[in-house]
Amino acid sequence: MQIRVKTNARTQMVDISSQVQDAVTQSGIKNGIVHVFSLHTTAAVTINENADPAVETDILTTINKVIPWDDHFKHLEGNSAAHIKVSLFGPSETIPLEKGSLVLGTWQGIYFCEFDGPRNRRVNITIQGE
Ligand code: ZN
Repeated sequence: MQIRVKTNARTQMVDISSQVQDAVTQSGIKNGIVHVFSLHTTAAVTINENADPAVETDILTTINKVIPWDDHFKHLEGNSAAHIKVSLFGPSETIPLEKGSLVLGTWQGIYFCEFDGPRNRRVNITIQGE
């Protein structure tokens, strides 16, 4: 199944934990693993702290400093920074599923990471289990 994510900035982290949990609940599968996969070459998926919003800010500030938008890249589309960030973050995460709930630590959230927004995005969710 797929969920949609609408982003509103060039770089942005969107907490999609509740959308993923809703998809899992709808599936009726109670125990297994959940795979969350970005269907894009310029947007990633990661898991990190969702308690203090400053963590998102610090991650984005740092990644934008390490990989500036314009650094004499050769890719003609002009968004190489976004492609590089996705290869560093990775396109997917796998989360354990127990008794119908995602097994996440107290401070963990699932983030969709936009690196070339704003855009309308899609995330694929595969649930394996019973
Ligand atoms: Zn490109």
